[in-house]
Amino acid sequence: MERDAVTSPEYSPRDDERENVLRPRLLSEFLGQESVKANLSVFIEAARAREEALDHVFLMGPPGLGKTTLAGILARELGVDFKVTSAPALEKPKDLAGILTTLAPRSVFFIDEIHRLKPAIEEMLYMAMEDGELDFIIGQGPAARTLRIPLPPFTLVGATTRAGMVGSPLVSRFGINVRLGFYAKADVVAILRRSAGILDSSIDDDAASLLADAGRGTPRVANRLLRRMRDYAQVAGSPRITASVVADGLSRLEVDRYGLERHDRDVLAAIIEKFGGGPVGADTLAVSTSESVETLEDYLEPFLIQSGFIMRTPRGRVATPLAYEHLGYRKRNEDDGLPF
Ligand code: ADP
Repeated sequence: MERDAVTSPEYSPRDDERENVLRPRLLSEFLGQESVKANLSVFIEAARAREEALDHVFLMGPPGLGKTTLAGILARELGVDFKVTSAPALEKPKDLAGILTTLAPRSVFFIDEIHRLKPAIEEMLYMAMEDGELDFIIGQGPAARTLRIPLPPFTLVGATTRAGMVGSPLVSRFGINVRLGFYAKADVVAILRRSAGILDSSIDDDAASLLADAGRGTPRVANRLLRRMRDYAQVAGSPRITASVVADGLSRLEVDRYGLERHDRDVLAAIIEKFGGGPVGADTLAVSTSESVETLEDYLEPFLIQSGFIMRTPRGRVATPLAYEHLGYRKRNEDDGLPF
């Protein structure tokens, strides 16, 4: 299903060019995530001093939090080449072999959505990561033989929104694990300020604060909202993005003060109305809201859970009192006999 909501943290191809302008190039421009940066800068410095490839890096976290950005920053800070692909683009072992054998020494090789690797390719990657070589089978039947190809040293950066779907043989081959969490409000404000500066636009303090509340703790979402607010300000003839431009703009986009938009509210309403508040399994919930399970689990749920609207229990998802209150439902009381 095509989701084009402004608050969707999913990457859309149209974001590419726009995001590149705003994408931080250096660790110092990457705002927030202080402990991640502090650790990475030590590992970068050590690898540089030893003139070795940095250890393989596993990046986990919901979409739009900066995994691709961070991979690019690693390459730039290490002063090495950067090669990007995503697991679905690697269809055959030769696709992977073609990239690995032509990497410049110590390159950073980024594989996005690494939970989607095909088994044959994943196995090839084990050996490449651990032993720095590839076994490549050429020919077929009795004439087939295995060619062992040494590889240049490289750093694999594997990113995933679904760490639980990556098997332990792969996970254990990464030396550095980084988990990106949603950004604190102050960091989102700082990101909005930086982006507004690059876009040559000015935003008032109270406007930035309001926008940060709606930005889902996600830089991609915050930046996308900022662009829309810039449009609204421009059309309204306002030289700055003010709090009233933001309040008006968010309500036009149907984004509420928590950053929830219609899709999120539909999910909450479904849990409450159709399933008596839960628990309900992800598959059932996805069907009843016309979302794919992946969209529900990767994009909608993490933020709804983080902001306290949904709880995950062993028996399924449950709407919290905050969800009832926010949507204006009365929480079911066991003895009042009312459905809600
Ligand atoms: P992911 O790969 O996790 O989906 P990206 O790395 O593509 O996310 O980040 C999305 C956008 O958000 C980037 O283009 C960048 O402009 C912005 N961004 C992400 N993290 C930061 C950050 N820490 N500081 C400033 N901007 C950021």
